[in-house]
Amino acid sequence: MKNKTILCFAAHPDDLEYSCTATLHLLIKEGYEVIYIIITNGENGFKMGSLPPKERVAIRRREQIEAAEMLGVKETLFLDYKDGFLDYTEELRARLTGFIKKYKPEFVFVFDPANGEFDSLNLFHRDHRNMALAVFDACFAAKNLWMYPGEPHRIKTLYFYGTRKPNCFVDITEHIELKLKLLACHKSQFPDFTKIEQYIREDICAVHPEYKYSEAFRKLDIVQKI
Ligand SMILES: [Zn+2]
Repeated sequence: MKNKTILCFAAHPDDLEYSCTATLHLLIKEGYEVIYIIITNGENGFKMGSLPPKERVAIRRREQIEAAEMLGVKETLFLDYKDGFLDYTEELRARLTGFIKKYKPEFVFVFDPANGEFDSLNLFHRDHRNMALAVFDACFAAKNLWMYPGEPHRIKTLYFYGTRKPNCFVDITEHIELKLKLLACHKSQFPDFTKIEQYIREDICAVHPEYKYSEAFRKLDIVQKI
């Protein structure tokens, strides 16, 4: 039977809502099951008053779960790393590889590890960079027979979001309202959502000349050549 699972990795709650939820909506309609893996707690990106870290973590998780449920995500996992302090460790790669071997996804969505421009403090956030590298390496390790325990799994395609080198554009013109509604679930991030809405409509999703709104990816097919 064809594997219809998609694993989506995010460094923070809201990364996926910025990047790929309208595309995921289309894939869910095709019959795919989507699993979210949120690596850090996002507690240091909180913009709604001063609360202790534990409460900020709880709020950000609730917001992420609300957005995931609204989209129809099957499962959302929180790996509980501290926001802003993500290291690429052997422990992290082993955990990520374990998820790929367990869920055997056809597609993996993650930040683009090939980005290297460092022209945006937000896009080139340490957690995004380290997550992207660790997930990329975990995709290799998962298809290897010997590196980690468990049956190997070769994913079919990597979709890198937040990329500076897109080669795949998905027309989401019909689904921009849904994307905005999902992003708006992260209330603690947006004291003024109208500014974010404008940013999504005029910048992030205005990247293809023929589509009013689109989501852009660098797509990498994992082809077995030998
Ligand atoms: Zn982020």
